[in-house]
Amino acid sequence: MPELPEVESVLRTLRDCPPVLPGRMINRVIVLSDTVISDEHVDKFPVELEGMVFSSIVRHGKYLIFRMIRSGVGCSESFVIIHLRMTGRLFLVPHEHSVERHTRLVLMLDNDLALRFDDPRKFGRVWLVANPADVVSGLGPDALTVSPEIFRTRISSYQRQIKPLLLDQSFLAGIGNIYADEILFQAGIHPLKSSCDLTPSDIDRLCNATREILTEAVESNGANIEGVFSKGRFVVSVYGREGLCCSKCGSMIIKIRVGQRGTHVCPVCQPFL
Ligand SMILES: [Zn+2]
Repeated sequence: MPELPEVESVLRTLRDCPPVLPGRMINRVIVLSDTVISDEHVDKFPVELEGMVFSSIVRHGKYLIFRMIRSGVGCSESFVIIHLRMTGRLFLVPHEHSVERHTRLVLMLDNDLALRFDDPRKFGRVWLVANPADVVSGLGPDALTVSPEIFRTRISSYQRQIKPLLLDQSFLAGIGNIYADEILFQAGIHPLKSSCDLTPSDIDRLCNATREILTEAVESNGANIEGVFSKGRFVVSVYGREGLCCSKCGSMIIKIRVGQRGTHVCPVCQPFL
């Protein structure tokens, strides 16, 4: 948490909900925690970023990619890339609300607002690079937009348990523990099954479930699990529901371990054999 739908919700808020971020210039950079900057030369970060303008925002998997431009003689561009990891939050606030206990980075803007990055657990990271590939080149296709053809081709090239494969960001980018469980439940596939044992029909259902669950979650602004993402309205079917009844068949949902991760399964809807 946050996964692809929650990161997409952050992107849409910053890009589409006035006052929007694109077009704003960074007047001042305040780094409150050096570890948030993924560069040993933390001192360079404010120097290089001050005076740059937010041009556009895109997402790949769980990474937010901000294109920055510096107008003037020899217009130049750079990219700020942010991964929220477990507890990162990114939002606009008035200048006077720019720092709180868990604030790690503040970008003071030219319109009396600041872009604030809060992160209680300190796992979130920020990069400033000339080329986004420096950070995201190891990722697979984005899980929301991958085509069915590429999905099928990629899955048939692996021989792995299906849940760890879904969580592998080099296979598909954006799926974490919550949505992996929801996707496998929707597809009726047991998380311990090997990808090489999936039938063409299984793969079609998995591909469709991936798109349907992530699309529904994006439209719901993500999921609010344990109050971590308060905007989220996505209703989970199995994640965190061990001991409760399956919404499809009424059987009891169980929790097992798969690749070190707590995993929620309906043993009837997701048979292993
Ligand atoms: Zn069931």
